Amino acid sequence: MQPEELFDVIIVGGGAAGLTAGIYSSRAKLSTLILNEGAIGGQMVLTEEIANYPGVEKTSGYLLANTMKQQAKEFGCKIKSNLKIRTYDLNGEIKRVVLEDGRKFHSRSVILAPGGRPRPLQIPGEERFKGSGISYCATCDGEFFTGKEVIVVGGGNSALEEAVALTTHADKVTIVHQFDHFQAFKHAVDQAKMNPRIEFIMESELRSFSGNGVLQEVSMEHLPSGKTSSMKIDGVFIFAGYIPNTSDLKGTITLNERNEIIVDPEMRTSLPGVFAAGDCVAKRYRQVTTAVADGTIAALSAAEYLRS
Ligand SMILES: Cc1cc2nc3c(=O)[nH]c(=O)nc-3n(C[C@H](O)[C@H](O)[C@H](O)COP(=O)(O)OP(=O)(O)OC[C@H]3O[C@@H](n4cnc5c(N)ncnc54)[C@H](O)[C@@H]3O)c2cc1C
Repeated sequence: MQPEELFDVIIVGGGAAGLTAGIYSSRAKLSTLILNEGAIGGQMVLTEEIANYPGVEKTSGYLLANTMKQQAKEFGCKIKSNLKIRTYDLNGEIKRVVLEDGRKFHSRSVILAPGGRPRPLQIPGEERFKGSGISYCATCDGEFFTGKEVIVVGGGNSALEEAVALTTHADKVTIVHQFDHFQAFKHAVDQAKMNPRIEFIMESELRSFSGNGVLQEVSMEHLPSGKTSSMKIDGVFIFAGYIPNTSDLKGTITLNERNEIIVDPEMRTSLPGVFAAGDCVAKRYRQVTTAVADGTIAALSAAEYLRS
């Protein structure tokens, strides 16, 4: 039997935060392994266009993710994708991660960067029409709605930016938002307002989805008046916040009431030798730049921990 390899750093998650931690850690000559559940790149690959990553002109999220992956690999970082972690043992000096298929990996430190996933609206019909009219990713599914009419739910940066991106496919995009103002940055709001294919329904929430096999209609409530109405629609894109991918870490490290990982400014968690980075940590702003910054700090802190 082969002896199990002991890594200096295991990174859980291969999005912007995990890949950046991988670049820094392997460049510091620490043996580094990224274990990633889905496709490498995380939420970046769900993003049609990233225009606010400094030093890089407008680029696709897929391209940016791929460049980060190549960079990490060139420094010697090992990457394993499309796997599922069964258990973590993060106490003690040697940490252990066990996969569903029984493979075990050991390391002297761990950086948790599992990111998050879109928050569903949890209203009737959502489960039924997921993939048959309801989507959480304009990049992945926008093209299916070429020449059609869609709703975008949400009022943050993702909602407004993806609504604009959707107008390259859809004839009409209606943004439905629960408040009378948007939380998105002014630039994103202005871009959406200037777009002749975008309309707005404010202070309203979707209440249910219906259709015959595929989504055909939504019902919505105008919140101030309580009046409900229905609208024929071909598709709905939901950008209503996110849920951190931390459910399997409950009871292992300290999380807050929103299940975000609590870290200090050095990205240290409640356990020695365990760090966290990116969208999974408790913080206000979630962007590629903030994930990258967290990943950098987590890797440097892990190196410092290993030296001491
Ligand atoms: C539609 C959309 C548009 C956006 N547009 C922009 C933009 O224009 N500019 C910008 O700066 N930001 C944008 N963002 C936000 C930005 O993409 C994220 O803040 C950033 O990518 C988060 O990176 P992360 O590495 O923390 O997490 P993620 O990207 O979520 O990566 C986490 C990775 O970990 C994996 N994972 C999850 N659980 C486990 C587990 N248990 N074990 C192993 N692996 C696991 C996931 O599969 C994933 O690959 C956008 C987000 C969305 C959804």
